[in-house]
Amino acid sequence: MKLIFLGPPGVGKGTYASRIGPLMGIPQISTGDLVRGEIKNQTPLGEKIKEYSDKGLLVPDEVITEMLKKRLEEDDAQKGFILDGFPRTLNQAGLLENVAEIDQVINLNLADNVLVQKISARRICRNCGDIYNIADIHEGDIHMPPVLPKKEGACDRCGGPLYHRDDDKEGVVRERLLVYKKETQPLIDYYREKGILKDFHVNAGPKQMVPKLMELIKGK
Ligand code: ADP
Ligand code: ZN
Repeated sequence: MKLIFLGPPGVGKGTYASRIGPLMGIPQISTGDLVRGEIKNQTPLGEKIKEYSDKGLLVPDEVITEMLKKRLEEDDAQKGFILDGFPRTLNQAGLLENVAEIDQVINLNLADNVLVQKISARRICRNCGDIYNIADIHEGDIHMPPVLPKKEGACDRCGGPLYHRDDDKEGVVRERLLVYKKETQPLIDYYREKGILKDFHVNAGPKQMVPKLMELIKGK
């Protein structure tokens, strides 16, 4: 199954992709991770894309699509995959069509004020990218318990140090939400018109939501 997870920053896209992927036996492919990998390994491509990433700008569509295409050619992606962070613009959605045929697009959503609380409380493993959250959110019918590591400040998966991304700090978060609405919202309409979009409202923590999301994906 070839899936795209869409959703604003903080909705839990990466977390859900990383849990649903293993349940379905398909890899989670995050373009943000691909970008960070190239930069970390100081490849020629990495040098080029670092300028964009450092400024919080999108890497040019042709460059990011080429990186993704290579990743999708690897063995583990032949059965299917979950795309997380791609496409981000209508132009990328068009380019993707030459590369893969998508079965379903999952549109994850959550109220803006909850997103802001959640992102500001996000902690990420510096080694493996595993995601935790220290917020305990009660807002109307939304109850999201914190996702804490077993040992404070250390990743459960690899023991690496947890950190707070600079662009996860509260001031920047509202701006990122605006950018998301402007750039990515058109994608929702695009896939809805194609008839492959499914909406998923997040109103609890991953423990309760993961089985519901599996049902939504399977119930095609
Ligand atoms: P963010 O949620 O801050 O955008 P990501 O981890 O998704 O973080 O991406 C990190 C960086 O990688 C982005 O700032 C951007 O430079 C680049 N990037 C990731 N995905 C894409 C994409 N689909 N198109 C262009 N650039 C991308
Ligand atoms: Zn880790």
